[in-house]
Amino acid sequence: MAKLLIIEDESDLRQVLGYNLTQAGHEALTAENGAIGLRLAREHRPDLVLLDLMLPDLSGTDICRMLKEGADTKDIPIIMLTARGEEVDRVVGFELGADDYVTKPFSVRELMLRIQAVLRRAGAPEGAKTDVVEFGCLRVDRDAHRVWVGDLEVELTALEFKLLLTLYDRRNRVQTRSALLDDVWGIQADITTRTVDTHVKRLREKLDKARDYVETVRGVGYRFVGSPDEAGV
Ligand code: CA
Repeated sequence: MAKLLIIEDESDLRQVLGYNLTQAGHEALTAENGAIGLRLAREHRPDLVLLDLMLPDLSGTDICRMLKEGADTKDIPIIMLTARGEEVDRVVGFELGADDYVTKPFSVRELMLRIQAVLRRAGAPEGAKTDVVEFGCLRVDRDAHRVWVGDLEVELTALEFKLLLTLYDRRNRVQTRSALLDDVWGIQADITTRTVDTHVKRLREKLDKARDYVETVRGVGYRFVGSPDEAGV
């Protein structure tokens, strides 16, 4: 599961891209202008940025330059989304260190292939495909969105599934409620940290004997244990 940031002012395109990335097993953050995009890139350090060249506030090439100048953001790969007739900007973008570009209108499938290629080159997690997690009595098929505890399949909602994988992928590290809200529910969600508790409780109930893999860290958040032995399951 890679974390991607979409900086694009066209809301339809932003939504389509966000939807397709989520379907492919990635996390998608979205920004409607350059200022928000820069802030999210610095705060969340995504594995890849999809960067529109023509934005209402800053140009894509400016953003590209600022990301490449930032110590925390310079290694984030960038795919530029350009319209026809923006060749000059595209060349500038490459000079500034963008990794790839696609010209609008593009097929989502083509863009997804480009994304996989750039993530692979960057050594970032590539998302879902045929990836099966085996952890003690827990087994998760990321691609099929299926979970088993022992021999029994557990029915999780899409949100619970995402919550489980988000915790698992950062096992042995405490995840704060607000970080989980950001990463599982999305940054614009109009919900409170209490929602996290409710969903973790429900997830644990469904996980039955694997429930102790998810620990409560009092006053902070949750932690997926580092090894099955830790939970004694
Ligand atoms: Ca635009």
